[in-house]
Parts: sequence; structure tokens; C-alpha cells
Amino acid sequence: MRCLMFLCLLICSLPSLALDRSRVEGYLLPNGLQVILKSGYERDHVAIRLVVGVGLDDFDCEQKELPHLLEHLLFTGIDETGEGGLEERLQALGGEWNAYTSSADTTFVIEAPARNQRKVLDLLLAVIRDTRIDAKALATAKRIIEREDGGHYGHLQRWLDRQDIGHPASDQLATELGLKCPERSNVNDMTLAQVQALREKWYAANNMTLIIVGGLDRLLPAYLERTYGELPATEPEERRALESISQQAEQRRDLTRGWLGDSAKLHWLFIEPVLDNDHQQTLDLLSRYLEWALYDQLRLRNGLSYGPSVQRESFGDSGMLSLNADLERDDVDQAIDVMQQLFDHLRKDGLDPDTFARIKDAAIAKESWSTQGNSALADYYWGALNDYDNGRFTDPARKLRQVSLDQANDALKEMLKDPGYLRIEKPLLGYDELYGLLALLLGLIVAAGLLRWRRHTPQRPSGATRER
Ligand SMILES: [Zn+2]
Repeated sequence: MRCLMFLCLLICSLPSLALDRSRVEGYLLPNGLQVILKSGYERDHVAIRLVVGVGLDDFDCEQKELPHLLEHLLFTGIDETGEGGLEERLQALGGEWNAYTSSADTTFVIEAPARNQRKVLDLLLAVIRDTRIDAKALATAKRIIEREDGGHYGHLQRWLDRQDIGHPASDQLATELGLKCPERSNVNDMTLAQVQALREKWYAANNMTLIIVGGLDRLLPAYLERTYGELPATEPEERRALESISQQAEQRRDLTRGWLGDSAKLHWLFIEPVLDNDHQQTLDLLSRYLEWALYDQLRLRNGLSYGPSVQRESFGDSGMLSLNADLERDDVDQAIDVMQQLFDHLRKDGLDPDTFARIKDAAIAKESWSTQGNSALADYYWGALNDYDNGRFTDPARKLRQVSLDQANDALKEMLKDPGYLRIEKPLLGYDELYGLLALLLGLIVAAGLLRWRRHTPQRPSGATRER
């Protein structure tokens, strides 16, 4: 009996031997800085993410790039050795870093050997706290951002932006709906004072989360309190309200991409409904289901597209789900028919229960292997901060399991209530059209030549009498 009990206990405790990634050591420092620590898979490495709660969406169109500008400025150096000296110091510690400004946050991403974790954290703290920003650094950072955005933002580019040429289809639609700025903000107009104000207001301890995953130093909590605990806090402020849909968009538009070619890209975009329960998980499952349905219809049954895909994006306060297909130019109309039939079928009959169950199981299974390693786990925490509370991240597999077929069907019906938006990207001319044009041109040249030849050929005198 006792043996049996021991066996039961052993079996019950087996799953807990695997890393429970939902549980972390999480707490607030006295200055409000949120710390998330997790002993990770690899002990000789740490993945560090410092997430600052300020992103592009916190600024209106003219100032959009301001947080991105500050992000670059913070790498310009902490002493007279400048940018190069800073990089050398990190190299000497065996680390690598990068930073990203997204619509929601600015995040400093560091990978480093576990043995140097405190020295690397010292350096990151110095970057945040001690970087002196001057006019020269500002000019350099502006040039870098211009180059990142594809060169100097001249009059032509500004004009092209307004014409919506050169943007992916979802960006184009978001602009049309009023969810996205029609043109890039002008980095050149941004001043030192604006950058400083942003830094003071948003780079405050109570607006930051420090995530560290890997072989954690035993003294890390005490070290953090002594160092990062000294960063100043500010009075928390409301974040700017996100853009809402404020304009109408055309149902179908053809977008010109390049000059010549026979390929086309079709995007069928829908605005995601706002769901009361399990919003993200339900829409994730729905997008996986639609990706399978698109693959089944466009590739397997009709051979129209090699790699159809479904993508979720967010613009302002709205989510956008786009069904994408790479096509031959001549197949666009047929693909539209096939997709229209698919939507009609889904509107009428809803999701196929067996297919939904299979796709849901696959999504749950993926959760157990999709965040392997310290860096992936740190990135996962970064992306899931909204699902964090008191030392626990909500278990994504459990949340997926909760989504019922009825819930998914309701969301689908809500989304397909509208016809959606069609955007077709194709080059200005297909080869057939080019050959047609060339033939026409050739015809015109021949005709003109013929005309000239006839005009210049001397006419035979019609009668001798008229000459006299
Ligand atoms: Zn950048």
C-alpha cells in the first residue's frame, strides 16, 4: 500500500520536474520598477530584457519617431570614449545587445554570460541613467534613423507616402481607415528639449520592467535593490488614447508594386471583432483555422497559390486579420471566387468541428516546445506582460484549451458580417500587356513608315495634258 502511494506521488510530481514557465519570481522594487526573475534552462547564460513603457503610439503623427530617436541616442556613449567605447565594454564582458521601439514599448535586449551578469546590468543602468545627450549625438542619431527608414525622406518619398505607394497592404488599409499616420514624422524637426522631456517623463523606474532569465546570481535581488532601486520614479500618467477607425475605406483597391511582372499578391482583410472572453486565443485559433482552410482551397484543391497565409496585426485600437495569397496575375479573379465561396460557406455552416478540434490540439501542443531556451523564454515574458500578475503568467495552453467551438464560431460570424477589404498588389504591367504594348508600338511605327514612304514616292503623272 505504502509502495503504491509512493508510486502515485512520484507520477503526480513528474510534470513539475519540467520547467514551469508560468511561475516566476516577480516583485516591485521600492521605486516601482517591476522585476521578473526566472531560473532558466541554460545556467551559463542570462537573457535580459528591460522593457520601458513608452512606444510610438504614445505620440501623435508629427512626433511618432521620438521614442525611437531616444532609443538610438542612448547608445551614443556614457563617457568620452563614446559609442565605440560603450560597445567595447560590452564586448569585453562577452555580451551582445540591441534595442527595439514598437508601438507599445521600447525594449533593451541583452544576451550575456551568466558570470558577468551584474557587470552587464551595471552597464545597462549606466546607459539608461548616465548617457549625456548633446546636439552632435542628436544629429548622428537622426541620420541613422533616416537611413533605417530607407534614406533621406525627401519630397518625392513624402508624396509617394501620401499616394499610399510602397506600403504593405495592411498598412495601406490602416492609413485609409485613419488608424495609421499617412506619412512618416519628420525626425529632422525634433529637438534636444523634446528628447529630454520624453526621457524624464517615461524613462522612470515605475514605468519599467526588468526581465532576467537564465543562470541567476544568488545575490541578484540584493544587487538590484541597491542599483536599479535607485532609479527615480515619476508620477504615473495616462497613456495616449489609441487611434480608432475614423474614415471609410474602399472595399477593393489595386495597388501598383514595381513595373513589370506576372505575379500578384492578394490580401483579403477583416477588422477583428472585440471579444468579451479569451479575445487573443480565440482569434489566434481562428487565424490558424483560416490558414488551413486557405491552404486547402487555394493550394490543394485549386492549385492557385503556393504559400497562402493568414496574419494578425494591430493598428491603433483595432486588430486586423489578413488572408494572403501569392498568385499568377491571371488567376486573381479565380482566387477571389474561391475565397468568396469559402467565406459564404463559413458564414452559413460555421467551422468544421473536427478540423477545429485538430487545429486547437496542435496549437496547445506547440505551446510545450515553442519557447525553448533562456532567450525565447525572456521574449515570451516580454510579450506576455499584460497577462502577468503577482508572480504568475497565465498559462497559454490552458487559455487555448478554454476556447470552445461555439466561442470561435461566434467570433467568426462577427468578423465575416462585413465583406472585408480586398487589396491586390501587382506590377504596373504584366508580360502579356507588355507584349501587347510592344506590338501596338511596332504597328504604329510600321504604319508611320508606310505613310512616309507613300508620301515621298513620286506619283505617276496622270495625264500629259495637265502638264502643259
Ligand atoms: Zn532604429
